[in-house]
Amino acid sequence: MALIVQKYGGTSVGDLERIANVAGRVQASRDAGNHVVVVVSAMSGETDRLLTLAKAIGDVPPPRELDVLLSTGEQTTIALLAMTLEARGCPARSYTGAQVRIQTDSAHNKARILSIDHQTLCRDLKEGYVAVVAGFQGVDPQGSITTLGRGGSDTTAVALAAALDADECQIYTDVDGVYTTDPRMVQTARRLDRLTYEEMLEMASLGAKVLQIRAVEFASKYKTRLRVLSSFEEGPGTLITSEDEIMEQAVISGIAFNRDEAKITILGVPDNPGIARQILGAVAERNIEVDMIIQNVAQDGNTDFTFTVHRNDLQRALEAVHKVAAELSAREVIGDDKIVKISLVGVGMRSHSGIASLMFGALADEGINIQMISTSEIKISVVVEEKYLELGVRALHDTFELDKPPAEG
Ligand code: ASP
Ligand code: MG
Repeated sequence: MALIVQKYGGTSVGDLERIANVAGRVQASRDAGNHVVVVVSAMSGETDRLLTLAKAIGDVPPPRELDVLLSTGEQTTIALLAMTLEARGCPARSYTGAQVRIQTDSAHNKARILSIDHQTLCRDLKEGYVAVVAGFQGVDPQGSITTLGRGGSDTTAVALAAALDADECQIYTDVDGVYTTDPRMVQTARRLDRLTYEEMLEMASLGAKVLQIRAVEFASKYKTRLRVLSSFEEGPGTLITSEDEIMEQAVISGIAFNRDEAKITILGVPDNPGIARQILGAVAERNIEVDMIIQNVAQDGNTDFTFTVHRNDLQRALEAVHKVAAELSAREVIGDDKIVKISLVGVGMRSHSGIASLMFGALADEGINIQMISTSEIKISVVVEEKYLELGVRALHDTFELDKPPAEG
């Protein structure tokens, strides 16, 4: 008998009809002979609604009380789903995070899971019940309710799957899998059958927001097979797993992009030891995260320094940099938020050369100027002018023939 953890997001449990649809899927999986643990989110819009209520009382709600409030969203869904299953003749028991003892630290609103006591769940499964567990919440050592951060139900599901050593963790959502790129931008984008954890992390952090990043990190750490599927259509979805489970490996798996970045350039910085620390230190002091960094070769003792930050942080970062630039007698500081980052992702890059030149050539053929480049083992990212986003992504999708499935081999 296989043990499957299924997770349904907010839109999948948005109303009673949809909850009935979920119950049907859960029951089908159980009838097929599986042990099933279900993790659910709050009904769509509910967490936002609760958050608005809290903020109407005060701008910064007490974190502990906010968790008590937000956790009710998921508590509603588990009860409704368990009732629906029971009404269909499928024995089910619902549990809050505290009841299954999903132990977390005490960092309210962004707690981390420390351990899960799966005795209760195992007993239920043995007795033939479906266990329905509230996502996004746990309990800290003091017994206070905690929540795991927005989108945290994904992490609950993967953590449970890891703790129970489940055969698969299925994440049901409103898309039918992970695509080679955003299908709204490129019509020929193709659903991927398989993807490695590493690739998914790159795709997710680069803006393909299907899964919470922490959930993928968790899955990767415990080698939990993850599958992203639609709760509205039938289909195999996308399996996210380790590299050795993937037989037909494409060189490039997908193209991610990020519209949320802005670029800061400091011209004419004296090329001395410590300048990078001085510039980036001033930015870090304001708790601003830096993504790409480039420093030029020095000429006449001066160099240029460019880096990117989140667009929302641009003004604050510029303030910090202007100050340092004055101290360093730098020539000029330029801020630019009309940029995008486009990234080519694929574990196959490790064993193939010439990918970068093919990528840069494809962009050049479209007359797209590359402003910054950064690479890792499985990713090449470029920063280009914002207006070239679609053109660039389409050109790369064509050049790397991502519309065609990879050859067997
Ligand atoms: N309900 C929470 C949220 O909206 C957690 C989740 O849906 O995963 O962020
Ligand atoms: Mg979600």
